[in-house]
Amino acid sequence: MKGTPMKKILIVGGVAGGATAAARLRRLSEEDQIIMFERDEYISFANCGLPYYIGNVITDRDDLLVQTVEGMTERFNLDIRNFSEVVDINRADKTVTVKKTKTGETYTESYDALILSPGAKPIVPPLEGLKEATNLFTLRNIPDTDAIYHFIADKHPKKAVVVGGGFIGVEMAENLVERGIEVTIVEKMPQVMAPIDFELAQLVHQELNAHGVNLVLGDGLLNFSNQGKNVNLESGKSIETDLIILAIGVVPENTLAKKADLLVGPRGHIATTAKLQVMDAKTNAIVDGVYAIGDAIQVKDAVAKVDTAIALAWPANRQGRLVADIINGADVQYNGSLGTSVLKVFNLTVAATGNNQRMAEMRKIPVQAIHAHRNNHASYYPNATNIALKLIYNTQTLEIVGAQAVGQDGTEKRIDVIATAIKCKAKVTDLSDLELAYAPPFSSAKDPVNILGYIAENVIQGEYKVAYPSQIDELVKQGAFFLDVRTPIEFENGHIEGAHNIEVDELRTRWAEITVAKDTPIYVNCQVGLRAYVAIRILRGHGFTNLFNVSGGYSTYKTLKYVLNSANRSSKAAPKVDETTGQAKTVTAASSYTEVDVTGMQCPGPLLSLYKAVQSVKDGEGVRIIATDPGFANDVENWCSSNGHTLVSLNLVGNKYIAEIVKGQKAKTAVGTAPSQENATIVLFSGELDKALASMIIAQGAAAQGKKVSIFFTFWGLNVLRKSAHVKVKKNLIEKMFGWMMPRGTKHLPLSSMNMMGMGPEMIKFIMKQKNVDSLDLMMQSCRDLNVKFIACTMSMDLMGIKAEELVEGVELGGVGTYISHNENVGTTLFI
Ligand code: FAD
Repeated sequence: MKGTPMKKILIVGGVAGGATAAARLRRLSEEDQIIMFERDEYISFANCGLPYYIGNVITDRDDLLVQTVEGMTERFNLDIRNFSEVVDINRADKTVTVKKTKTGETYTESYDALILSPGAKPIVPPLEGLKEATNLFTLRNIPDTDAIYHFIADKHPKKAVVVGGGFIGVEMAENLVERGIEVTIVEKMPQVMAPIDFELAQLVHQELNAHGVNLVLGDGLLNFSNQGKNVNLESGKSIETDLIILAIGVVPENTLAKKADLLVGPRGHIATTAKLQVMDAKTNAIVDGVYAIGDAIQVKDAVAKVDTAIALAWPANRQGRLVADIINGADVQYNGSLGTSVLKVFNLTVAATGNNQRMAEMRKIPVQAIHAHRNNHASYYPNATNIALKLIYNTQTLEIVGAQAVGQDGTEKRIDVIATAIKCKAKVTDLSDLELAYAPPFSSAKDPVNILGYIAENVIQGEYKVAYPSQIDELVKQGAFFLDVRTPIEFENGHIEGAHNIEVDELRTRWAEITVAKDTPIYVNCQVGLRAYVAIRILRGHGFTNLFNVSGGYSTYKTLKYVLNSANRSSKAAPKVDETTGQAKTVTAASSYTEVDVTGMQCPGPLLSLYKAVQSVKDGEGVRIIATDPGFANDVENWCSSNGHTLVSLNLVGNKYIAEIVKGQKAKTAVGTAPSQENATIVLFSGELDKALASMIIAQGAAAQGKKVSIFFTFWGLNVLRKSAHVKVKKNLIEKMFGWMMPRGTKHLPLSSMNMMGMGPEMIKFIMKQKNVDSLDLMMQSCRDLNVKFIACTMSMDLMGIKAEELVEGVELGGVGTYISHNENVGTTLFI
């Protein structure tokens, strides 16, 4: 700082950590002599941009060179020596030995302070056939990038194997696909992206498969043969390839540190204090004037407080600045790393901070994990997309241990907020109180981060217990009681084996169907966890005491069960093998497609529109449907297979799912344990808005599954069919009185509870509009379009004095005979 004598500071390594430290040192002192040594040609280049240059996403190579030797020398008055490798540190006389890499000539340079920022290098194990492989590359710096770039330009590889499913491996896979290369990722662990837990990694697997990337997981690299034309795996499998990218991790550049007898950790990282000083290997004493930063060092895990090493740019940059401050006398320290990270995987953003559940449990931290699926912004604002979130907290201290998210826009924002909360030592219960920016295009008034806080509070307050998706199959085997509170259409599209389906809106009237003892564990699930929470409150009100919410709902459970490659839906790679027989199959695309755009519509809207569109075309003709509902990708696959249609392709373009379906061509397959009867009948007694809505939703769902559906309107249910305008008809006094007292048509129906003198129905209609849910009138129209029969019970009409003229168009009048004739071959009869 000002007034201190001039210092001579040497820096080893001139990229992320080293260059940051050099610039900060100069800003803190105009007088100090600062020499930065870099073994290679380039300094301060954009390591993180290298894969994107290979993928031609960054098109100008010069954009990778954030600073040049000349530019940085001039700006910061530094002595930058590239092609200069520091080969020895003489701690006793405080000098280093430098070798000029072009000439081999060496010289010494003295220091008052020495900063080591040598980074980490790719792991290259001495495997058989590696040296002979002429097509094998690693990626760390500009020369590596140039080599891969020119290999692609000159040799035009068609196939590539990326060994390693970490950050660099996945980024390289995406960028090679961008270059039109068919890519296989080989990863020894059962998942890619170690920072996130398996159920979230499965979303990444889906995305990679969807873009044509093959995944070979849980299989290790054995060796190479045929000059790298074959990559051989521990399982005995051999993959033919034109190009190999070896990205199985990095090891710290510690040769210099070891030679200088500096303390290194179990994985070879240079051990450092909070002030970034290094230590003597024998005595553990701090070595005067020597500091280390960046990928090469061992630091404390900011959550678990154990030793760790994080090879990411934020820690290197932060440490680069801090070390300059420390050398200049500031009382600051490095507070440990969280490992906050983000990665683009085609259309997905994968972000994480802190410890994942696997890591935390390994470190014996008592944790609870919770899942949430929330839209990135208000669902009624166009193009909302889903973010799958997982939060892990310490059950004893309530400190946040880590979080992960996989989604599209706004995903990393949520992780950044949580990373901030962790660093500020917020508890999980503070998340609900974070006042975050909101307007419809950006978020919701309850941000996904707030929601995680609310869910955690529910669990902490004992509202319910949490069942992890990974526990479900075992619970099913043990015969546990599962209650699925989604709509029948969602249920029929796939559910937990043996689950009982009572839609949440019917639970108040149907809870008595749950005949287990009140203290039996009941595992409640909906699609994502929210309706299950509502259901749990209802069940609690009826005396059930042992209630579990399936964390993340059916959505997370289904993702967990994703089978690799089974949904390789890239248009370039439509399914080639029949999943059930394993035989090669011919997928006949239609010559033309009827296009249906359902973007912005929510479940079951997209499915119903698809049903109608498919009805309108002939066998062998095609329908192309464009949707933004994230659940649609799963639904359409099930729907096609259970209705005998062929899903030719399903692609995610931007944030739109585009499915191409050919009508017919396939035998129907049963989904889950859903009943397969032909017809369904609903008897609607009630004239209440919520019950009428439920009837229409179920009717549409059943009709969309190809069932013949009739709704028999009787007693108060007839009011749903009344025209809202007054119709002049001849009535006696009692009939007139009935007519005055009863609601006239869909616009005037009350709610079964929370009617609040008519405010309740208006509120529900407002929320339905916001959430893009059709009004009752539209739903009724939709039912008619799906050939759902509306039958008005003539006997009750007579009793209540309702005349045919008072009813809306398209209603059949009938008595019990009509009802019974429509009841033939009925699999489902509902009385509402
Ligand atoms: P480096 O930046 O690697 O610099 C070390 C330098 O020291 C090297 O240039 C080396 O030549 C030089 N050196 C070593 N030994 C000597 C010696 N004895 N004498 C002289 N010079 C020496 N991180 C992220 O956070 N996000 C990302 O998206 C991301 N993407 C990445 C993509 C790729 C392809 C790579 C390779 C890394 C990526 N990283 C990313 C990691 C990030 O680049 C590193 O964490 C960061 O560069 C580490 O900085 P460092 O100073 O420790 O090491």
